[in-house]
Formats: sequence, C-alpha cells, structure tokens
Amino acid sequence: MVPKKYTKTKLKQFRQTIENKMHDINGEMDSIRDSLENTAKGNASLAQDSVYSVHMADAGTDSYEREKGFHLMNRETDYFHHLQLALERIDTGEFGVCKVCGELIPEERMMEVPNATKCVDCKEKEKLNIS
Ligand SMILES: [Zn+2]
Repeated sequence: MVPKKYTKTKLKQFRQTIENKMHDINGEMDSIRDSLENTAKGNASLAQDSVYSVHMADAGTDSYEREKGFHLMNRETDYFHHLQLALERIDTGEFGVCKVCGELIPEERMMEVPNATKCVDCKEKEKLNIS
C-alpha cells in the first residue's frame, strides 16, 4: 500500500503559506522588540532626571508592559519554531500525515494549523484518554 501524502503542488502551497506566516511573525517580533527597547530607554532617562520623580505606579505599568512584551515574544518565538518544524516535515514528507493513524489531515486544518501532526479524530481520542 502506498503511504498517503500530499502532492508536490499542494506541499508547495503549504510551504508558501508557512513562509508567509513566518514573515509576518518576524515583523511582529521586530515591533515588539522595538517597543521593549523604547520602554527600557524611557526608564533610563527617567532615572537620570530624578529618582524621586519616578512614581511607583508608572514603574509598575512599565514593568507590566515589558512583561507582556516578553510573554508575547516567547509565544511568537514558539510559534515560529513550530512553523520551522512544519517546513522540515514538508522536506521529510511527513507533513499533513497523521502520525497516529497515517491518514491525511484535511487541507483546511493544515492551512490553519501548519504544525499539526495529528488528525482531529486522533487528537480528540487522545484528549479522552488523558482525562
Ligand atoms: Zn489520525
């Protein structure tokens, strides 16, 4: 029996979609990095002006913003990594094939979640087993 997999043409489309997503993420990460650097600069100049003029509330907001930024960076980095793995799976021919049942994962799902390695059925079954 021939193993199921997507055609070369389809894989090319997936690769394009994934690369576009990666490009978007790169842009987002740049702007997050920028805003993080700006908060850092803002804090530095404030501290130079006068230590006493820094209100605790402002400092709190800044660190909250920074934390949020770092959190976002982590999430984007994770996602980026997943997309890289998805590209590798295209190269190895595992892309879009459920690693549990070996069936093709529907195109719509792969477009939405390129890093998926299981079909919805197997994923649901797994959830039931865990709980
Ligand atoms: Zn499956």
